[in-house]
Amino acid sequence: MTVEEHKVEADIATHNQNPYEIVQSLIKDSVDTLGLEESIYHILKKPMRVLEVAIPIRKDNGEIVNYTGYRSQHLDILGPTKGGIRFHPDVTLDEVKALSIWMSMKSAILELPLGGGKGGVIVNPKELNSRELEELSRSYIRKITPIIGPKKDIPAPDMNTTPEMMAWMIDEYDKLEGYNIPGLITGKPIIIGGSQGRLEATGRGVMITIREAANAIDLDLSRATAAIQGFGNVGSATAHFLHECGVKIVAITDASGGIYHKEGLNIKELLEFVVDGNVIADYSHCQPISNEEMFALPIDILVPAAIENQITAENAPTIQAKIVAEAANGPSTPEGNDILEEKGTFIIPDILCNAGGVTVSYFEWVQNTMNYYWKEEKVNKELEERMIAGFQRVFTMGREKGCGMRKAAYMVAIKQLVLALQARGWCQ
Ligand code: GLU
Repeated sequence: MTVEEHKVEADIATHNQNPYEIVQSLIKDSVDTLGLEESIYHILKKPMRVLEVAIPIRKDNGEIVNYTGYRSQHLDILGPTKGGIRFHPDVTLDEVKALSIWMSMKSAILELPLGGGKGGVIVNPKELNSRELEELSRSYIRKITPIIGPKKDIPAPDMNTTPEMMAWMIDEYDKLEGYNIPGLITGKPIIIGGSQGRLEATGRGVMITIREAANAIDLDLSRATAAIQGFGNVGSATAHFLHECGVKIVAITDASGGIYHKEGLNIKELLEFVVDGNVIADYSHCQPISNEEMFALPIDILVPAAIENQITAENAPTIQAKIVAEAANGPSTPEGNDILEEKGTFIIPDILCNAGGVTVSYFEWVQNTMNYYWKEEKVNKELEERMIAGFQRVFTMGREKGCGMRKAAYMVAIKQLVLALQARGWCQ
């Protein structure tokens, strides 16, 4: 295949299953297995609040485009809702609702005093210049201002949103409120109250869970091989940390295409290459590879770090990896998951695997609230402890119930949410 053909294949990657329906069926299944009342499912299955906003932007060519945005808040029984904002052309209301539920699950597994929230704007950010993106960011935050706040709902970066955009958003919010409120948003630049270690936190957490999984199945990471789908913030940081552990990363794909090198890619060079604004397909030193070909490689670890519904009934049978680490949110369909589980693949489910981001966001918010800032070593140490404890809770639950890691993760999260419901008098 030529690089161009790979680009086309990457573009038509399917993501046709509704993540909201998927997460609801996972919750239902776990509620039933835990022997909880049906009413628990009805409380957990939908967000407590959803806002849809219109965001008209004047582009530099004079045209006005009216974008649609959402903010979904799942449940605030454990603490204020929290979660990122994504800018993507495929954003849908159901996706944002599902993502807000996943945020609740992540926080519950890691025992963070937070609920789940998520925002999204239907936009292809590549079609906007920096000034237009700034206007979109400021305008979106203005529109959702009535329902957010450091004690209500705390946004953060997600797909295609950056610390720079968080800075524009908080600047706009501060202007509206009339004073500096650093705890409104996390994932900010460090100079205005961001936390050390936040940028790479999700990737660091992914690596920690992979290390724990490798321990559990007796896989020596210094001899292991891996492939990564997606080379954005999460994929690239994961590559960096796995490389540090001695893992040989043989293939990487992104929306532009893929590259393969049997002896291991030069991760240091690739990280510098993408920082300069390049995409994977522009890196000409290796053999091109399609996503499907990469998934089928004889590797130890596969890290989907891109979008939803990538591991499906069609490609799961070809996956040979011993560990699938879900750095993305919702990368496996239920059918894909079941096929992997039957094969004995060790799946680190998204709501555990990528929870490092929200964990350090929580630390950022704590630091903002105290107006006292931690050293990076402290951030990384606390992240490590939380991730290991979360992993152990899920792994133990899986053993106790004799089920896979995904269902175990949902059960750990739901048990925690039920404790809060009980304490608040909603159930016994
Ligand atoms: N967007 C990230 C996630 O999906 C981080 C959210 C946050 O930091 O609040 O987990």
